[in-house]
Amino acid sequence: MKVYYENDADIKHLKGKKIAVIGYGSQGNAHSNNLHESGLDVVVGLRPDSPSIAKVKEAGLKTLPVGEAVKNADVVMILVPDEKQGDIYREEIGPNLKKGAALAFAHGFNIHFGQIVPPDNVDVIMIAPKGPGKLVRTTYQEGSGVPCLIAIHQDATGHAKDVALAYAKGIGGSRSGVIETSFREETETDLFGEQCVLCGGLSELIKAGFDTLVDAGYAPEMAYFECLHEVKLITDLIHQGGISYMRSYISNTAKYGDITRGKRIVTEETRKEMKKILEEIQSGNFAREWMLENKVNRPVFNAILKRDAEHPIEKIGKKLRDMMKWIKK
Ligand code: NAD
Ligand code: MG
Repeated sequence: MKVYYENDADIKHLKGKKIAVIGYGSQGNAHSNNLHESGLDVVVGLRPDSPSIAKVKEAGLKTLPVGEAVKNADVVMILVPDEKQGDIYREEIGPNLKKGAALAFAHGFNIHFGQIVPPDNVDVIMIAPKGPGKLVRTTYQEGSGVPCLIAIHQDATGHAKDVALAYAKGIGGSRSGVIETSFREETETDLFGEQCVLCGGLSELIKAGFDTLVDAGYAPEMAYFECLHEVKLITDLIHQGGISYMRSYISNTAKYGDITRGKRIVTEETRKEMKKILEEIQSGNFAREWMLENKVNRPVFNAILKRDAEHPIEKIGKKLRDMMKWIKK
Protein backbone atom coordinates (compact mmCIF):
# COMPACT_ATOMS: atom_id res chain seq x y z
CA MET A 1 0.00 0.00 0.00
CA LYS A 2 1.15 3.50 -0.77
CA VAL A 3 1.77 5.72 2.29
CA TYR A 4 2.27 9.50 2.16
CA TYR A 5 3.82 11.75 4.81
CA GLU A 6 4.22 15.48 5.51
CA ASN A 7 6.64 16.10 2.62
CA ASP A 8 4.38 14.40 0.09
CA ALA A 9 1.50 16.78 0.86
CA ASP A 10 1.52 20.48 -0.03
CA ILE A 11 -0.99 22.75 1.66
CA LYS A 12 -0.62 25.24 -1.24
CA HIS A 13 -3.25 23.24 -3.15
CA LEU A 14 -5.82 24.60 -0.66
CA LYS A 15 -4.36 28.06 -0.03
CA GLY A 16 -6.70 30.82 -1.17
CA LYS A 17 -9.44 28.25 -1.73
CA LYS A 18 -12.74 28.06 0.07
CA ILE A 19 -13.56 24.89 1.98
CA ALA A 20 -17.14 24.13 3.02
CA VAL A 21 -17.46 21.49 5.75
CA ILE A 22 -21.06 20.28 5.85
CA GLY A 23 -22.12 19.19 9.35
CA TYR A 24 -20.62 19.88 12.75
CA GLY A 25 -20.81 16.50 14.48
CA SER A 26 -17.97 14.23 15.51
CA GLN A 27 -15.91 14.59 12.30
CA GLY A 28 -17.23 18.01 11.19
CA ASN A 29 -16.11 19.68 14.39
CA ALA A 30 -12.59 18.22 14.16
CA HIS A 31 -12.08 18.83 10.42
CA SER A 32 -13.28 22.44 10.43
CA ASN A 33 -11.28 23.50 13.50
CA ASN A 34 -8.10 21.72 12.37
CA LEU A 35 -8.31 23.17 8.83
CA HIS A 36 -8.94 26.64 10.25
CA GLU A 37 -5.89 26.38 12.52
CA SER A 38 -3.86 25.18 9.53
CA GLY A 39 -4.54 28.65 8.06
CA LEU A 40 -7.24 27.61 5.59
CA ASP A 41 -10.50 29.36 4.71
CA VAL A 42 -13.31 27.27 6.20
CA VAL A 43 -17.05 27.74 6.41
CA VAL A 44 -19.34 25.25 8.16
CA GLY A 45 -22.57 24.46 6.28
CA LEU A 46 -25.53 23.89 8.61
CA ARG A 47 -29.33 23.99 8.62
CA PRO A 48 -30.58 27.47 9.55
CA ASP A 49 -32.19 26.01 12.72
CA SER A 50 -29.18 23.87 13.70
CA PRO A 51 -28.27 23.90 17.39
CA SER A 52 -24.61 23.70 16.27
CA ILE A 53 -24.60 27.28 14.88
CA ALA A 54 -23.84 28.74 18.32
CA LYS A 55 -20.99 26.26 18.86
CA VAL A 56 -19.45 27.03 15.47
CA LYS A 57 -19.50 30.76 16.18
CA GLU A 58 -18.07 30.21 19.64
CA ALA A 59 -15.17 28.33 18.04
CA GLY A 60 -14.51 31.41 15.87
CA LEU A 61 -15.58 29.78 12.62
CA LYS A 62 -17.92 31.03 9.90
CA THR A 63 -21.22 29.31 9.21
CA LEU A 64 -23.77 29.50 6.39
CA PRO A 65 -26.82 27.51 5.29
CA VAL A 66 -25.65 24.42 3.37
CA GLY A 67 -26.52 25.69 -0.12
CA GLU A 68 -24.84 29.07 0.49
CA ALA A 69 -21.71 27.42 1.83
CA VAL A 70 -21.48 25.15 -1.22
CA LYS A 71 -22.05 27.92 -3.79
CA ASN A 72 -18.61 29.51 -3.39
CA ALA A 73 -16.69 26.45 -2.23
CA ASP A 74 -13.73 24.90 -4.03
CA VAL A 75 -13.87 21.91 -1.69
CA VAL A 76 -17.06 20.53 -0.15
CA MET A 77 -16.54 17.95 2.59
CA ILE A 78 -19.76 16.09 3.43
CA LEU A 79 -19.81 15.17 7.13
CA VAL A 80 -23.50 14.57 7.80
CA PRO A 81 -24.75 11.07 8.72
CA ASP A 82 -24.29 8.62 5.82
CA GLU A 83 -28.00 7.79 5.54
CA LYS A 84 -28.89 11.49 5.12
CA GLN A 85 -26.20 12.39 2.60
CA GLY A 86 -28.19 11.40 -0.50
CA ASP A 87 -31.13 13.69 0.29
CA ILE A 88 -28.95 16.62 1.41
CA TYR A 89 -26.82 16.23 -1.73
CA ARG A 90 -29.85 16.24 -4.06
CA GLU A 91 -31.55 19.18 -2.37
CA GLU A 92 -28.73 21.51 -1.33
CA ILE A 93 -25.28 20.42 -2.42
CA GLY A 94 -25.56 19.16 -6.00
CA PRO A 95 -27.52 22.16 -7.35
CA ASN A 96 -24.92 24.59 -5.92
CA LEU A 97 -21.71 22.73 -6.69
CA LYS A 98 -19.16 24.73 -8.73
CA LYS A 99 -17.58 23.23 -11.83
CA GLY A 100 -14.05 22.07 -10.98
CA ALA A 101 -14.76 21.86 -7.25
CA ALA A 102 -13.80 18.83 -5.18
CA LEU A 103 -16.55 16.87 -3.50
CA ALA A 104 -15.07 15.12 -0.48
CA PHE A 105 -16.20 12.33 1.84
CA ALA A 106 -14.91 10.68 5.02
CA HIS A 107 -16.56 7.36 4.13
CA GLY A 108 -17.19 5.84 0.72
CA PHE A 109 -20.72 4.46 1.21
CA ASN A 110 -22.76 6.97 -0.79
CA ILE A 111 -20.42 7.09 -3.77
CA HIS A 112 -19.64 3.38 -3.89
CA PHE A 113 -23.29 2.35 -3.64
CA GLY A 114 -24.48 5.05 -6.04
CA GLN A 115 -26.60 7.02 -3.56
CA ILE A 116 -24.80 10.16 -4.76
CA VAL A 117 -23.89 10.49 -8.44
CA PRO A 118 -21.81 13.67 -8.89
CA PRO A 119 -21.45 15.39 -12.27
CA ASP A 120 -18.38 14.63 -14.42
CA ASN A 121 -16.91 18.11 -13.95
CA VAL A 122 -15.97 17.80 -10.26
CA ASP A 123 -13.29 15.86 -8.41
CA VAL A 124 -14.59 13.19 -6.03
CA ILE A 125 -12.21 12.36 -3.22
CA MET A 126 -12.12 10.74 0.20
CA ILE A 127 -10.16 11.75 3.26
CA ALA A 128 -11.10 9.39 6.08
CA PRO A 129 -9.35 9.65 9.43
CA LYS A 130 -8.98 6.23 11.08
CA GLY A 131 -10.36 7.45 14.39
CA PRO A 132 -13.24 9.32 16.02
CA GLY A 133 -13.52 13.10 15.62
CA LYS A 134 -12.45 13.80 19.18
CA LEU A 135 -9.13 12.06 18.59
CA VAL A 136 -8.67 13.85 15.24
CA ARG A 137 -8.98 17.10 17.16
CA THR A 138 -6.93 16.35 20.30
CA THR A 139 -4.02 14.74 18.42
CA TYR A 140 -3.90 17.75 16.08
CA GLN A 141 -3.78 20.12 19.07
CA GLU A 142 -0.93 18.08 20.54
CA GLY A 143 1.05 18.38 17.32
CA SER A 144 0.42 14.93 15.87
CA GLY A 145 -2.57 13.52 13.98
CA VAL A 146 -4.72 10.49 13.28
CA PRO A 147 -3.62 8.50 10.20
CA CYS A 148 -5.95 9.03 7.24
CA LEU A 149 -7.07 7.08 4.23
CA ILE A 150 -7.40 8.91 0.94
CA ALA A 151 -9.05 7.73 -2.26
CA ILE A 152 -9.82 9.24 -5.63
CA HIS A 153 -13.10 8.28 -7.28
CA GLN A 154 -13.07 10.93 -10.00
CA ASP A 155 -10.26 13.23 -11.13
CA ALA A 156 -11.86 15.95 -13.28
CA THR A 157 -9.22 18.61 -12.71
CA GLY A 158 -6.10 16.45 -12.78
CA HIS A 159 -5.35 17.68 -9.24
CA ALA A 160 -7.69 15.49 -7.20
CA LYS A 161 -4.88 13.72 -5.35
CA ASP A 162 -3.01 16.96 -4.59
CA VAL A 163 -6.18 18.36 -3.03
CA ALA A 164 -6.86 15.17 -1.05
CA LEU A 165 -3.29 15.13 0.30
CA ALA A 166 -3.42 18.85 1.16
CA TYR A 167 -6.70 18.29 3.01
CA ALA A 168 -5.20 15.33 4.91
CA LYS A 169 -2.30 17.61 5.87
CA GLY A 170 -4.71 20.35 6.94
CA ILE A 171 -6.43 18.05 9.43
CA GLY A 172 -3.11 16.65 10.71
CA GLY A 173 -3.30 13.22 9.07
CA SER A 174 -0.01 13.37 7.18
CA ARG A 175 1.87 13.91 10.44
CA SER A 176 1.23 10.22 11.09
CA GLY A 177 0.74 8.88 7.56
CA VAL A 178 -1.80 8.87 4.76
CA ILE A 179 -2.66 5.57 3.12
CA GLU A 180 -4.12 5.44 -0.37
CA THR A 181 -7.07 3.12 -0.92
CA SER A 182 -10.19 3.03 -3.12
CA PHE A 183 -13.79 3.97 -2.34
CA ARG A 184 -14.73 0.32 -2.76
CA GLU A 185 -12.09 -1.06 -0.43
CA GLU A 186 -12.69 1.51 2.29
CA THR A 187 -16.48 1.06 2.17
CA GLU A 188 -16.53 -2.72 2.15
CA THR A 189 -13.87 -3.23 4.83
CA ASP A 190 -15.44 -0.57 7.06
CA LEU A 191 -18.86 -2.21 6.90
CA PHE A 192 -17.39 -5.69 7.38
CA GLY A 193 -15.38 -4.61 10.42
CA GLU A 194 -18.29 -2.96 12.18
CA GLN A 195 -20.71 -5.80 11.42
CA CYS A 196 -18.57 -8.86 12.11
CA VAL A 197 -15.94 -7.79 14.62
CA LEU A 198 -16.14 -4.37 16.22
CA CYS A 199 -19.84 -3.81 16.85
CA GLY A 200 -21.98 -6.79 15.82
CA GLY A 201 -19.49 -9.52 16.70
CA LEU A 202 -18.28 -7.99 19.94
CA SER A 203 -21.66 -7.04 21.42
CA GLU A 204 -23.14 -10.48 20.71
CA LEU A 205 -20.05 -12.17 22.18
CA ILE A 206 -20.36 -10.10 25.36
CA LYS A 207 -24.10 -10.78 25.71
CA ALA A 208 -23.72 -14.50 25.03
CA GLY A 209 -21.03 -14.81 27.71
CA PHE A 210 -23.08 -12.80 30.20
CA ASP A 211 -26.28 -14.80 29.51
CA THR A 212 -24.47 -18.13 29.87
CA LEU A 213 -23.12 -17.24 33.32
CA VAL A 214 -26.38 -15.71 34.56
CA ASP A 215 -28.45 -18.65 33.26
CA ALA A 216 -26.11 -21.00 35.15
CA GLY A 217 -26.95 -19.17 38.37
CA TYR A 218 -23.95 -16.86 38.77
CA ALA A 219 -24.42 -13.31 40.04
CA PRO A 220 -25.04 -10.81 37.20
CA GLU A 221 -22.45 -8.53 38.82
CA MET A 222 -19.79 -11.23 38.37
CA ALA A 223 -20.95 -11.91 34.82
CA TYR A 224 -20.76 -8.20 34.00
CA PHE A 225 -17.20 -7.83 35.27
CA GLU A 226 -15.96 -10.95 33.50
CA CYS A 227 -17.72 -10.54 30.16
CA LEU A 228 -17.98 -6.78 29.65
CA HIS A 229 -15.90 -4.67 32.03
CA GLU A 230 -12.66 -6.52 31.41
CA VAL A 231 -12.99 -6.37 27.62
CA LYS A 232 -11.25 -3.00 27.78
CA LEU A 233 -8.23 -4.36 29.64
CA ILE A 234 -7.68 -6.97 26.95
CA THR A 235 -8.46 -4.80 23.91
CA ASP A 236 -6.18 -2.03 25.22
CA LEU A 237 -3.31 -4.54 25.30
CA ILE A 238 -4.17 -5.87 21.83
CA HIS A 239 -4.41 -2.28 20.54
CA GLN A 240 -1.00 -1.43 22.02
CA GLY A 241 0.97 -4.43 20.87
CA GLY A 242 -1.07 -7.07 19.09
CA ILE A 243 -2.34 -10.47 20.19
CA SER A 244 0.98 -12.03 21.29
CA TYR A 245 1.75 -8.91 23.34
CA MET A 246 -1.63 -9.19 25.08
CA ARG A 247 -0.88 -12.86 25.79
CA SER A 248 2.43 -11.90 27.41
CA TYR A 249 0.43 -10.00 30.05
CA ILE A 250 -2.12 -12.67 30.98
CA SER A 251 -1.57 -15.72 33.23
CA ASN A 252 -0.51 -19.05 31.77
CA THR A 253 -3.89 -20.45 32.75
CA ALA A 254 -5.62 -17.67 30.82
CA LYS A 255 -3.30 -18.23 27.88
CA TYR A 256 -3.90 -21.98 27.76
CA GLY A 257 -7.68 -21.44 27.95
CA ASP A 258 -7.42 -18.81 25.22
CA ILE A 259 -5.56 -20.94 22.69
CA THR A 260 -7.47 -24.18 23.28
CA ARG A 261 -11.03 -22.79 23.64
CA GLY A 262 -11.18 -19.73 21.39
CA LYS A 263 -11.64 -21.74 18.20
CA ARG A 264 -14.66 -23.49 19.72
CA ILE A 265 -16.35 -20.08 20.00
CA VAL A 266 -15.42 -18.68 16.60
CA THR A 267 -15.99 -21.90 14.69
CA GLU A 268 -15.78 -22.85 11.02
CA GLU A 269 -19.50 -22.08 10.92
CA THR A 270 -18.84 -18.55 12.22
CA ARG A 271 -16.20 -18.02 9.55
CA LYS A 272 -18.63 -19.23 6.89
CA GLU A 273 -21.21 -16.74 8.15
CA MET A 274 -18.59 -13.95 8.01
CA LYS A 275 -18.07 -14.77 4.33
CA LYS A 276 -21.82 -14.56 3.75
CA ILE A 277 -22.01 -11.19 5.47
CA LEU A 278 -19.09 -9.96 3.36
CA GLU A 279 -20.90 -11.16 0.24
CA GLU A 280 -24.05 -9.22 1.28
CA ILE A 281 -21.88 -6.11 1.61
CA GLN A 282 -20.10 -6.64 -1.72
CA SER A 283 -23.31 -7.34 -3.63
CA GLY A 284 -24.94 -4.14 -2.35
CA ASN A 285 -27.65 -6.10 -0.53
CA PHE A 286 -26.75 -4.64 2.85
CA ALA A 287 -26.71 -1.09 1.45
CA ARG A 288 -30.11 -1.66 -0.21
CA GLU A 289 -31.59 -3.05 3.01
CA TRP A 290 -30.29 -0.13 5.10
CA MET A 291 -31.43 2.55 2.62
CA LEU A 292 -34.92 0.98 2.42
CA GLU A 293 -35.05 0.71 6.22
CA ASN A 294 -34.46 4.49 6.35
CA LYS A 295 -37.17 5.16 3.76
CA VAL A 296 -39.78 3.46 5.97
CA ASN A 297 -38.71 5.23 9.16
CA ARG A 298 -36.44 2.49 10.55
CA PRO A 299 -38.89 -0.03 12.12
CA VAL A 300 -36.26 -2.77 12.58
CA PHE A 301 -33.56 -0.35 13.73
CA ASN A 302 -35.81 1.18 16.38
CA ALA A 303 -37.37 -2.06 17.62
CA ILE A 304 -34.12 -3.97 18.09
CA LEU A 305 -32.25 -1.07 19.67
CA LYS A 306 -35.11 -0.65 22.14
CA ARG A 307 -35.22 -4.34 22.96
CA ASP A 308 -31.44 -4.53 23.41
CA ALA A 309 -31.44 -1.49 25.69
CA GLU A 310 -33.65 -3.51 28.05
CA HIS A 311 -31.25 -6.48 28.24
CA PRO A 312 -30.30 -7.25 31.89
CA ILE A 313 -26.65 -6.47 31.15
CA GLU A 314 -27.59 -2.81 30.68
CA LYS A 315 -29.35 -2.53 34.05
CA ILE A 316 -26.61 -4.21 36.03
CA GLY A 317 -24.02 -2.27 34.06
CA LYS A 318 -25.51 1.05 35.00
CA LYS A 319 -25.50 0.09 38.69
CA LEU A 320 -21.88 -1.06 38.62
CA ARG A 321 -20.59 1.87 36.59
CA ASP A 322 -22.21 4.22 39.10
CA MET A 323 -19.91 2.60 41.69
CA MET A 324 -16.87 3.30 39.50
CA LYS A 325 -17.05 7.06 39.09
CA TRP A 326 -13.69 7.24 37.33
CA ILE A 327 -15.10 5.48 34.28
CA LYS A 328 -17.19 8.51 33.33
CA LYS A 329 -15.23 11.64 32.54
P1 NAD B 1 -22.35 12.86 13.33
O1 NAD B 1 -23.63 12.13 13.46
O2 NAD B 1 -21.45 12.99 14.53
O3 NAD B 1 -22.61 14.35 12.83
C1 NAD B 1 -23.47 14.65 11.79
C2 NAD B 1 -23.67 16.13 11.67
O4 NAD B 1 -24.56 16.38 10.59
C3 NAD B 1 -24.32 16.79 12.91
O5 NAD B 1 -23.68 18.02 13.16
C4 NAD B 1 -25.74 17.06 12.43
O6 NAD B 1 -26.31 18.13 13.09
C5 NAD B 1 -25.49 17.37 10.96
N1 NAD B 1 -26.70 17.25 10.15
C6 NAD B 1 -27.67 16.31 10.23
N2 NAD B 1 -28.63 16.55 9.32
C7 NAD B 1 -28.25 17.66 8.65
C8 NAD B 1 -28.82 18.43 7.58
N3 NAD B 1 -30.00 18.06 7.07
N4 NAD B 1 -28.15 19.51 7.12
C9 NAD B 1 -26.98 19.87 7.64
N5 NAD B 1 -26.38 19.20 8.66
C10 NAD B 1 -27.01 18.12 9.15
O7 NAD B 1 -21.57 12.19 12.09
P2 NAD B 1 -20.03 11.76 12.01
O8 NAD B 1 -19.81 10.57 12.89
O9 NAD B 1 -19.18 12.95 12.17
O10 NAD B 1 -19.97 11.20 10.51
C11 NAD B 1 -19.80 12.04 9.41
C12 NAD B 1 -19.10 11.26 8.30
O11 NAD B 1 -17.81 10.88 8.76
C13 NAD B 1 -19.80 9.98 7.89
O12 NAD B 1 -19.64 9.81 6.52
C14 NAD B 1 -19.04 8.91 8.66
O13 NAD B 1 -19.11 7.64 8.06
C15 NAD B 1 -17.65 9.49 8.58
N6 NAD B 1 -16.70 9.00 9.59
C16 NAD B 1 -17.03 8.99 10.91
C17 NAD B 1 -16.10 8.58 11.84
C18 NAD B 1 -16.43 8.58 13.32
O14 NAD B 1 -15.64 8.04 14.10
N7 NAD B 1 -17.51 9.18 13.78
C19 NAD B 1 -14.82 8.17 11.45
C20 NAD B 1 -14.49 8.22 10.09
C21 NAD B 1 -15.44 8.64 9.17
MG1 MG C 1 -18.31 2.70 9.68
